[in-house]
Amino acid sequence: MSIKVDILHQVMKQRGENMLPLERQNRIKELVFERINMKISELSKELDVSEMTVHRDLKSLIDEGFVVKTFGGITLAQKYHKRQDVSTTNNCIICHHHITERLSYRLILHHHHVESLCCAHCGLIRQHQLGEEVMQAFCHDFLRHTTISATIAWYVMGTSVDIHCCQPQVLTFERREEAEKFVKGFGGQLLTFTEATRRLMNHMTGSDGSGTRCQNHDTSG
Ligand SMILES: [Zn+2]
Ligand SMILES: [Zn+2]
Repeated sequence: MSIKVDILHQVMKQRGENMLPLERQNRIKELVFERINMKISELSKELDVSEMTVHRDLKSLIDEGFVVKTFGGITLAQKYHKRQDVSTTNNCIICHHHITERLSYRLILHHHHVESLCCAHCGLIRQHQLGEEVMQAFCHDFLRHTTISATIAWYVMGTSVDIHCCQPQVLTFERREEAEKFVKGFGGQLLTFTEATRRLMNHMTGSDGSGTRCQNHDTSG
């Protein structure tokens, strides 16, 4: 019994008050990006911190214009809402694949622009291209389908599972343990954001010695 409580305590410790303010703000961004509207009490529960801490964390997000204050809560600034209308192109900026929500990768840029990419493969390439222009990037946990911050996600490359998107495939996970388990079951390599970007860029330029270039981006022929 007490072991269980200890574990629970450890898990709790990694959250909330023991997280750095920047980590909590990142988590708030993920939550609001996914749910659009959130109450202060919900955030306090989700992050396991006091409402006062939530208010403190929110200040910079409000100043930044990422969220807007509402009665008892916050809402994602209109400019960051996912485009709902089907008339606007719903294809990847890089490869023109149709974008499937659960695989999609989103880049929040300066001047309120949002770019959508079909998967983490195109997402990482685009983010690398845009560099400093990217303020925030979101992807989805491959198993849970939750929205996560791309820079702190775990990446799996070279797995045997076919996601029917760009090659080499890049899958994203929120939790390292789950990504590790996935690799055990389906193969591939576990990488951080930086490692995955580097590996992908090397692959694309052929400097990893593979000599193969991404089929989706190789227009020479
Ligand atoms: Zn793409
Ligand atoms: Zn793709």
